[in-house]
Amino acid sequence: KAFQERFINAFRNIPDFPKPGIQFKDLTTVLKDKAVFAETVDVLTEMYKDKNINKIVGIESRGFIFGAALAYKLDAGLILVRKPGKLPAETIKEEYELEYGTDALEIHVDGIEKGDRVLIHDDLLATGGTAEATCKLIERLGGEIAGVCFLTELGFLNGRAKLSKYDVKALATF
Ligand code: IMP
Repeated sequence: KAFQERFINAFRNIPDFPKPGIQFKDLTTVLKDKAVFAETVDVLTEMYKDKNINKIVGIESRGFIFGAALAYKLDAGLILVRKPGKLPAETIKEEYELEYGTDALEIHVDGIEKGDRVLIHDDLLATGGTAEATCKLIERLGGEIAGVCFLTELGFLNGRAKLSKYDVKALATF
């Protein structure tokens, strides 16, 4: 409980970024606070340490930060899911809907092997489109999704509806 309060308070709220009307949750102030950073890694590690996870998938780009720390702590490999054109080797792609138009994410085809136990991580769950596309990429490669974890979620956008098949966790809700 005390952790949650420290954690939530460590986010900086940026009104009207990157567009008017959006209250952007700025993670950089969480990262800057060494005690909160370390405690956050420890809390996530406790949540997943007994789940036989062998791969962490971090979503570009803020998902890479705690994704890397978790991979180290859980003794797992770290796989990157990135925007199109960034990954150098052979990839597969999933498109997903945005408010206006579509976007896409890619993963290396050799990033996941059949039977891998995968934990997906991103900083924030909004509509769920990003995480849903990531789940599809992993399943296309034969990976098993052991969990999907976020630092925070915007509860009012109900992103969990798109991820109802999975075990979804967030450390805090805005
Ligand atoms: P979704 O696909 O709508 O769930 O959007 C989630 C993605 O948007 C994540 O990769 C987040 O990093 C990013 N995102 C959306 N809103 C925010 C915010 O307020 N702070 C940080 N990231 C955000």
